[in-house]
Amino acid sequence: MTMITNHMPTVELQAIDAAHHMHPFTHGADLNAKGVRVITRAKGVTLTDSEGNEILDAMAGLWCVNLGYGREELAEVAARQMRELPYYNTFFQTTHVPAIALAEKLAQLTPGDLNHVFYAGSGSEANDTNIRLVRTYWAEKGSPEKKIIIARKNGYHGSSVGSASLGGMTPMHEQGGLPIEDIHHIDQPHWYAEGGDMDQGEFGLMRARALEEAILELGEDKVAAFIGEPVQGAGGVIIPPETYWPEIQRICDKYNILLIADEVICGFGRTGNWFGSETFGIKPHIMTIAKGLSSGYAPIGGSLLCDEVAEVINGCEFSHGYTYSGHPVTCAVALENLRILDEEKIVEKAGKEIAPYFKEKWETLADHPLVGEARIVGHMGSIALTPHKESRAKFASDAGTAGLICREHCFANKLIMRHTGDRMVISPPLVITKAEIDTLVSRAHKALDQAHAQLKTEGLLKAAS
Ligand SMILES: *Cc1c(COP(=O)(O)O)cnc(C)c1O
Repeated sequence: MTMITNHMPTVELQAIDAAHHMHPFTHGADLNAKGVRVITRAKGVTLTDSEGNEILDAMAGLWCVNLGYGREELAEVAARQMRELPYYNTFFQTTHVPAIALAEKLAQLTPGDLNHVFYAGSGSEANDTNIRLVRTYWAEKGSPEKKIIIARKNGYHGSSVGSASLGGMTPMHEQGGLPIEDIHHIDQPHWYAEGGDMDQGEFGLMRARALEEAILELGEDKVAAFIGEPVQGAGGVIIPPETYWPEIQRICDKYNILLIADEVICGFGRTGNWFGSETFGIKPHIMTIAKGLSSGYAPIGGSLLCDEVAEVINGCEFSHGYTYSGHPVTCAVALENLRILDEEKIVEKAGKEIAPYFKEKWETLADHPLVGEARIVGHMGSIALTPHKESRAKFASDAGTAGLICREHCFANKLIMRHTGDRMVISPPLVITKAEIDTLVSRAHKALDQAHAQLKTEGLLKAAS
């Protein structure tokens, strides 16, 4: 076996990666032709690659490293837990301290009476759990025909068969025959792209009422639940109009359907409060968590249930669970992550002290000629690239062409921003400082200038007709 170390030349690592490693959401042959980037270390908000470049990670990995990289305490806790009890299951009348302690901490941190956790290994798994949970809930209550889950176009809920079915990403549905049965998608509250000349508040109400129309069309007695991300993340950081969530809440209450808030990104400080549900005034029956739960240091997810739903589910044998539901090492790491976020007041400081500064700086990007809007809530933001600001026009080129060009320039300027289509998104660690925000925004500005110049040279600044 070859010893693969950080000290191997990058080209050799790339060759082995190309030969044997298949990457998620990637055109493999294209990637292998370009060569993959090898990340070797990280500290705070900064990544180091195999060439020694230091890069500002404005994505916190994949929206998850809320605490920032390199916290010794999490490594210590993981090592201690592995020595003491590396694994035991929670299936057969058994439990262990990390699963207990984390469950209690989650009950304390979450709003309302979300007092019960069902553990999973990821956000996708947790949303698969949710599909079975809500259908089982209604079956137990004597309404087994209440099965349909309403979700949104361009929502993201994971990549397993169930969670990708909840998601509204058409390229994902096209591969492998998704969605599964009894999932219904409604339009998203994406004013910038779809709102036309409408007032934003009116548009928000209209898109929320699409839920009511769907319930009336499908039948109240057939609809089990609605699922949504407080802010759509992977869909492009779509911050809904203020009118949207209160109207969704009203409709869920009126028609007696369960409300699932997918807080996999929004949870644990991302939107300025501990949970997006607090920022947007949502009272969910079920909440999906993952990502920031462990700041990505260990894979873990979960479903939080309110008292009433938990009581019904506890009234039957729920035939569901994962080998790693409540894994002791990942639970211990998540608990330590939450302890630090809480005791060091990282969530509070990020929301109250840093977020207003971040917003002021981020919104300066809206003045750039290539930018149609620059928006941010807490520590998640987006900019829409456009060939024509006033009309919010799309590019004539394939969606994502301009975004990809911009992303390449970001990387060349030692900044990681992701693109979804022609929107650039950020979601940095919550520990980012004001000085680092200045660096982030100035690098973004420079990358936008360069992308603008390249798009002009290549004749790509044309608006779609
Ligand atoms: C990432 C994500 C998921 C899926 O989580 P995984 O851990 O990748 O399975 C689910 N919902 C939302 C909102 C996400 O952003």
